[in-house]
Amino acid sequence: MRSDVTHDTPLAFTVAMSFLMGVVTTIAVYSLRADKLAPDVSEIHASPVAASDGSGTDAASAKDQPDVTPKEPAAAVPAAPVSPTEAGEIVALRGRELKLPVDGVDRKDLRNTFAESRGSRTHEALDILAPRGTKVRAVEDGRIQKLFTSKAGGLTIYEFDPTQTFTYYYAHLDRYESGLQEGQMVKRGDVIGYVGSTGNASPDAPHLHFAIFRLGPEKQWWKGEPINPYLVLSEQ
Ligand SMILES: [Zn+2]
Repeated sequence: MRSDVTHDTPLAFTVAMSFLMGVVTTIAVYSLRADKLAPDVSEIHASPVAASDGSGTDAASAKDQPDVTPKEPAAAVPAAPVSPTEAGEIVALRGRELKLPVDGVDRKDLRNTFAESRGSRTHEALDILAPRGTKVRAVEDGRIQKLFTSKAGGLTIYEFDPTQTFTYYYAHLDRYESGLQEGQMVKRGDVIGYVGSTGNASPDAPHLHFAIFRLGPEKQWWKGEPINPYLVLSEQ
């Protein structure tokens, strides 16, 4: 890469090209892998859809969908196109070097489950399988915005990043770290909960359901546009 760059190329240009190459590679990898995927767990999930007053009641109808247990792996879903906006955000998030939220898991072992179907919905998250009780850690410094219990997600945490641009969503927790409270500031790597199968996760396959959402201008924890966490957390 360096040898292709002449000496008078501005550093900013070099950096920008490096980022661009990274995005192109990421998208290529995503496209290649997406067609090999099959669901590894049977579930559907809550997305942070509107609770009528945001008070934590399980008011959203999307959370009332029945648990789904496909008899056979669903057909692979074509990779969702990554918009330029999303690609830029993925680059930005990769630059933050987020911590893997589950102990004992390697980046190369992650599987892209973002575009898989879960019943009538698209998954739009990353499932990280781990034994029940494995520590779940904050991926970045941030604020525990909401501790929420929903039918599909079970025990969940919504963490806002320091700039309130993104929410990190952790679901199916067995339990919260003791003392964890809404409004609490956490550091990258702090233990916030433990892997479980609450909500509609199969008891036989405890895992962390991890999602990233871009917050809207109102910064409502239950609303956001999903960003593929696999493209942020996986090894390049
Ligand atoms: Zn999931």
